[in-house]
Amino acid sequence: MKGNRGFDTAAELRLRHALFQRGHRYRKEYRIVTPSQSCRVDIAFVKRRLAVFVDGCFWHGCPAHGRVPRTNDAYWRPKLQRNVERDRANDAALRAAGWTVVRLWEHAPVDDGVATVEAALAGFD
Ligand SMILES: [Zn+2]
Repeated sequence: MKGNRGFDTAAELRLRHALFQRGHRYRKEYRIVTPSQSCRVDIAFVKRRLAVFVDGCFWHGCPAHGRVPRTNDAYWRPKLQRNVERDRANDAALRAAGWTVVRLWEHAPVDDGVATVEAALAGFD
């Protein structure tokens, strides 16, 4: 089972590759220190202050695939709940610092992710 953050997921790599091919330039695994906390952003468009996360379905509680494992529920449920709470806290901290936050599920088709990111970037023009 993959760990929570700390390395690239396949979905994140696919999205980064597609964005790069379409001419976008970004920073990966970019650390943003806000007054309330330090956040690591999967894909950051720094000048535009656009933060993109590709969330793993399991770790981030995807409504379609984010099931809590049946074994050891007492361990997993609070752990996964903390992940979701941390995501929301990161979103709030980044937005308070002037960033736009986009979250994509790892199950989403890469074309949809590209479209979402490009729509967010277009919003700055
Ligand atoms: Zn999912």
